[in-house]
Amino acid sequence: MIQQKVQVASEEPTVFAMATQQFNAAADKLGLNDGLRDVLGSCKREFTVNFPVKLDSGDIQVFTGHRVHHNVTRGPAKGGIRYHPNVTLDEVKALAMWMTWKCAVTNIPFGGGKGGVTCNPKSMSQGELERLTRRYATEISPLIGTVSDIPAPDVNTNGQTMAWIMDTISMHRGYTEPGIVTGKPISIGGTLGRTEATGRGVMLTAQEAAKHLGLSFEGARVVVQGYGNVGYWGAYLLQQLGCKVIAASDTRGAIYAEQGLDTEELLAHKTDSGSVAGFPGSDSITDAELLELPCEILVPAALEQQITGENAPKINTKIIVEGANGPTTPEADAIFYDRDIMVVPDILANAGGVVVSYFEWVQDIQRLFWEKDDVNERLESVMTRSFDQVLAASQEHKTDLRTAALLVAVERVADAVKIRGIYP
Ligand code: GLU
Repeated sequence: MIQQKVQVASEEPTVFAMATQQFNAAADKLGLNDGLRDVLGSCKREFTVNFPVKLDSGDIQVFTGHRVHHNVTRGPAKGGIRYHPNVTLDEVKALAMWMTWKCAVTNIPFGGGKGGVTCNPKSMSQGELERLTRRYATEISPLIGTVSDIPAPDVNTNGQTMAWIMDTISMHRGYTEPGIVTGKPISIGGTLGRTEATGRGVMLTAQEAAKHLGLSFEGARVVVQGYGNVGYWGAYLLQQLGCKVIAASDTRGAIYAEQGLDTEELLAHKTDSGSVAGFPGSDSITDAELLELPCEILVPAALEQQITGENAPKINTKIIVEGANGPTTPEADAIFYDRDIMVVPDILANAGGVVVSYFEWVQDIQRLFWEKDDVNERLESVMTRSFDQVLAASQEHKTDLRTAALLVAVERVADAVKIRGIYP
């Protein structure tokens, strides 16, 4: 049976409608003309594939996947591939648009793309995942390439997934093509520092935000929704700087410990048991309760639309650092602006991953690899510069950081479109 998620009517806008609403707020402030607004508000390419995979049982199942290019004016499309039961074309389009702004706000020479397959990876074997990945890579091979579109990991994909994609495309072409994906294992052209890069960016932007607000990290309470790659590394690095991580969650449960959680022990527990739930010395809470815990720094690092007009009035934090893409709805943004809660937006807060992906791609092309310190120093300089530019724009335009980040990003892409001109 083809797994396709039916878009159900809900109070929340679709994810792409939400991304469009955010873009429109910036386009209004920039006074973009209608033509440019149409160009930047739509996705350049939307590619959907339905493909069969042989399951371990011997049955054949048809899966649906997508690869979308939102805008490639500033460089090749760049963005992750997600495996999740709720993947839809609408979601992939929004994620691709956010990638365009993420690359522009950090000023790296890429456009925005994204991919996804509607599947439940948690119920699939490694063999099934490998066959799904290799077939999906083949299906989207007309789009991907070192100079055209470079995928990376996202929700439920990792270095192994990237290695299968790189191998599949390399087999087709007859030569090894390391620059076709980033987030690869080190042994095949990955970069030092990529695994923790998104979490490091979360830590660096949290640090800049705290500095601006005069908030000390010493004992600052951190709550993390989602203890995957981004949530774990963000929490671990914040803890290293003196913060106290008091709560964490994943798809199977949420936990709280007033005295603080040891982030490394918590990861070991999750790796062994499959969840943060049941971590010794912690109390079990609901995900809704987790988001409303009093804290100084809240890191939503799970999925979109977690913080809405419903729960935003009950959120009790000083800074929200968006490890996830699109966790906060526009309605919630307005509430936080009124309540003086600083939201470091996704396209800035979680850009560390794609910035180090860019470093990986540069190293692959040059066949010249950097030391870890070089990667981390360059990342820090990109993240702090980007944060400063966004903060300055928010002060100049008297707006929240999300709109400010979009102002910086959209203006860069709009300038590139204008100077290149419309072909023919
Ligand atoms: N999936 C990550 C993101 O949403 C990383 C993308 C990349 O490195 O290309 O930013």
